[in-house]
Amino acid sequence: MTTHDTFTTPPGPLREAHAHIAAHGRAMGMLDLSDCPSRGALLERVSMAAPHTRPPAWVLGVGLRPQGWDDPRWPTRDELDGAAGATPCCLLSFDYHAVAANSAALRASGFDDDSPDPAGGVICRDSAGRPNGHLLERAAKIAWEAAPEPTPAQWKDHVRRALADLASHGFTQVHDLLSQDWLGPMVAELDDAGELPVEVWLYPPMDRLEAVHAGSGAWRRDRVRLAGGKCFADGTLNSKTAWTLHPFANPMPDHPRGVPLLSAGDLAQAIARTRALGLGLAVHAIGDAAVRAVLDSWEVARGPAWGGAGVPPLRIEHCELIDAADVARFAALGVVCSVQPCHLLADIEVLGREFPQRLHRVLPLRELAAAGCLPGELMWFGSDVPIVRPHPADSVLAAVRRRRAAMSDDQAISPSQALSEGESWRAFRPARGRAG
Ligand SMILES: [Zn+2]
Repeated sequence: MTTHDTFTTPPGPLREAHAHIAAHGRAMGMLDLSDCPSRGALLERVSMAAPHTRPPAWVLGVGLRPQGWDDPRWPTRDELDGAAGATPCCLLSFDYHAVAANSAALRASGFDDDSPDPAGGVICRDSAGRPNGHLLERAAKIAWEAAPEPTPAQWKDHVRRALADLASHGFTQVHDLLSQDWLGPMVAELDDAGELPVEVWLYPPMDRLEAVHAGSGAWRRDRVRLAGGKCFADGTLNSKTAWTLHPFANPMPDHPRGVPLLSAGDLAQAIARTRALGLGLAVHAIGDAAVRAVLDSWEVARGPAWGGAGVPPLRIEHCELIDAADVARFAALGVVCSVQPCHLLADIEVLGREFPQRLHRVLPLRELAAAGCLPGELMWFGSDVPIVRPHPADSVLAAVRRRRAAMSDDQAISPSQALSEGESWRAFRPARGRAG
């Protein structure tokens, strides 16, 4: 049984509270490798695509997951050279933290046989010391970003395609959580042309917020809203950069509890800047220490409510670990807990490996709801597409069963934190949908 057969989307408007619209549309145009059952099947797919890829375009793929194959070895650069030839080929792992690249892509990324690992990244090598095409973290990012940037017209196609896809899943409102400067004007153009299928809320990065705000009078519409700014308090679980109260079981050297990315001063400043513009603030915080730091700053710096109609002054994104002492603070402080339960489906192994003693603190949705952080009001669901697919039923499955569809109940992560199916769908309901 597949996950979307398990839970059927009920009628009524839905909100996708955490998406990356342009990246989703772009990924939809790439090779989808998520259903490749083996390395051989993957190489076959690459070799079919390569002849249709005209320079300077690259063969780009997403969803690479060798961990799921019987033989989990990554494809090597030589194998990819055999499949893609001289066309640069770069395949992104499902979690966006690693790529497999062929020789042409390595060259175009500035990596040769003698290149040292870039700071924060790893160039994996074969037994002779030669790069084998498997790149991690910063090295993966460098290669991925070396591919030619889409033209504005291509971006517009990507955005149109992403919004149509999201609408097809029942979404009527989509929040973009790191909006490019050009996204607002582009979405407004679609709206003016009668081609905008969903309401869009934009959250550009904090370092662009004042500039984007200054020009936003030209593109803000009823259905195209500048909602606030986005910043990052920590990294991610898979890269062991989430900022946690307890050490990772297998930590990065020198960073046993991950990496804080914002100081209390930075957070206070971000709160003050968004308040000055009458906008909201969205802070990425995955680890329990990051969540606590954001709540602490808010407790000190918050003031009278502000933000446009329905826009929360503060929302915390991801919140994968929340310490028991912080659960009640969301409702007490009026902070939106913006979670993507579907990530649990991919993160079960890393959580079990790194935080075996803290699994009861993973997405404590039941405790949050009991403490007044109610689904749809202060608890919002989203997917973080294209990191994972945007099917809302995936998050409902994860929130209700706390495990993947094919797993048994004894593999569930703290099932006492489950929500009911009705509560889970409510977390996808936009406020206005409930009222009207
Ligand atoms: Zn995101």
